[in-house]
Amino acid sequence: MDAGTEKGGDILFEQFQALGQPGVYTEERCDEIRDLVAEITALKREKNAIVLAHNYQRPEIFEVADFVGDSLGLAKRGVDVTEDTIVFCGVHFMAETAKIMSPDKRVIIPDARAGCSLAESVDADALVARRDELRRTYPDLKIVSYVNTTAEVKAVTDVCCTSSNAVQVVENIDSQNILFCPDENLASYVAANTKKHIIAWNGNCYVHHQIRPEEIRRAREVNPGIKVIVHPECRADVIAEADEVASTSGMIEFAKNDAAGAFLIVTECGLSERLLLEVPDKKFYKACQLCKYMKMITLERTRDALVTGRDEVDVPRDICDNARLSIERMFELS
Ligand code: SF4
Repeated sequence: MDAGTEKGGDILFEQFQALGQPGVYTEERCDEIRDLVAEITALKREKNAIVLAHNYQRPEIFEVADFVGDSLGLAKRGVDVTEDTIVFCGVHFMAETAKIMSPDKRVIIPDARAGCSLAESVDADALVARRDELRRTYPDLKIVSYVNTTAEVKAVTDVCCTSSNAVQVVENIDSQNILFCPDENLASYVAANTKKHIIAWNGNCYVHHQIRPEEIRRAREVNPGIKVIVHPECRADVIAEADEVASTSGMIEFAKNDAAGAFLIVTECGLSERLLLEVPDKKFYKACQLCKYMKMITLERTRDALVTGRDEVDVPRDICDNARLSIERMFELS
C-alpha cells in the first residue's frame, strides 16, 4: 500500500448530500457532525493526539482525521508525528500495525470489536504448522503475509506485503516456493503475475469476495465508457473485468490522474465516498460492498475514546519486534 494522503481543508457538509444517501446525512445529522467535529478537534489538542483514518471509514470520520490512507501508509505517518497518542479509525489489525511501528506511542481504537474476516482467517500456530508441513516437500519455502494479519501472524512471517507490492515482494524474496497468507484472491493475482510457486492460504475478505463479475458487466452496459478499477482482494473473475487493478491508494492516484471522467470503483464503498468528496469534477460509480467492521467506528466513539482512553491496543514487545522485522524486510524487497 502507498502512503496516505494529508487531509487539507474542510469538506463542506453540503457535499455530504452528493453521497446520495437520503435519510443518512440529513440537515440535523450534519449539525450533530459539525458539533462532534469541533469537540474532537479540541480534545485532540488537549490530549496531544492525532487521528489516523483508513480509506474505508465513514465520510464524517475524514473530517476529524489528520491523515487518511491505507493501513501501512497510516502506520508510517504515525511514526513521524510528535503527538504521543494515536487514535486509529480503522480495524484492529491496522491499529496493531501502528503500534508495531510506534511501540512507544499509545494507540487507541475507538471500537475494539472492529475486526476483519481476512485477518481472522489465520492464526500464528496454524500458519507455523502448515509451513513446517510444506517444508518437508519444499525446503526453501518462505511465508509472505499480506499486512491484513494480526501482530502474532506478522511475527512468524518472513516478509509482509501490501496489495500494491505483493508481486514485487514475491519476485524478490530468496525462495522459489511461497506460502502466501491469508488472502486466496490476492494469492491468485500474484500467482498470475509471477513464475514462482505460490501456495495460497484459504482466507478471504468477505467484502471483496462477494462482488461478482455480472455487477461490473451491468454497470458497463448502463454507463458505456467508464473505467473499471478493481481491488486485488476481489475474485479472479472480477479482476478479469478490470481496466486497472490497484490498492486503495493506487485507485485514488489512478482516478485523479487518468484522462477518463467516470470510473467504477470495485472495493469497499468508503473509497468511492472519499473519491466523490475529494474529486468532485469526476464521476464515481459504485460496485461495492460495505465492511461492517469498518463502519463500527463512529464520531461518537472516536470522541469517547479520546475522553476515556479506551480501548488501548497492546502488543507484547517481543511480538512487536518480530512483526516489525517482517515489515522492514518488505521495505527492503519492494
Ligand atoms: S474490507 Fe475486508 S479486509 Fe478490509 S477490514 Fe473489512 S473484512 Fe477486513
